Amino acid sequence: MAIRKIRTIGDEILRKECKPVKIMTPRTKELIEDMFETMYAANGVGLAAPQVGILKQIVVIDVEDGNQYVLINPEIVEEEGSQTGYEGCLSVPGKTGIVTRPAKVTVRALNMEMEEIQVTGEDLLARAICHECAHLHGELYVDRVEGELEDVEMEEEIDPAEPIEQ
Ligand code: ZN
Repeated sequence: MAIRKIRTIGDEILRKECKPVKIMTPRTKELIEDMFETMYAANGVGLAAPQVGILKQIVVIDVEDGNQYVLINPEIVEEEGSQTGYEGCLSVPGKTGIVTRPAKVTVRALNMEMEEIQVTGEDLLARAICHECAHLHGELYVDRVEGELEDVEMEEEIDPAEPIEQ
């Protein structure tokens, strides 16, 4: 496993459409493992393949609910309600902004074994799913931020209430 370089805003790869994954290969498996490692090292709760420069429809999410979600070729099939709150992105370092997302979403995807799965998430998980799936279509949260982007206050210790980086 290896930590990969996270691409940041301005890098045009973040604006491209990602391709669906057709078969699981050892290389893709390694990519997914690296994505988790990279995400944890950066204290993120989600990461999409284009953020490490790979234009494949792969997302990893861990919102500390005891699950490590791997979503391949994800498609949001249901949305319910709305939530408005601060969001951040590992590809937009040091910034945060207010974004409205559905309160609850259901996503259909393939897992690591290329089996069809369905995940329903609320609150932070719903936000993470929407944020990461948008990355696969070249969208960043800054496109839909309400008001201005703000600077994240740097603190010596990690504040659990600080905006979530995805
Ligand atoms: Zn992001």
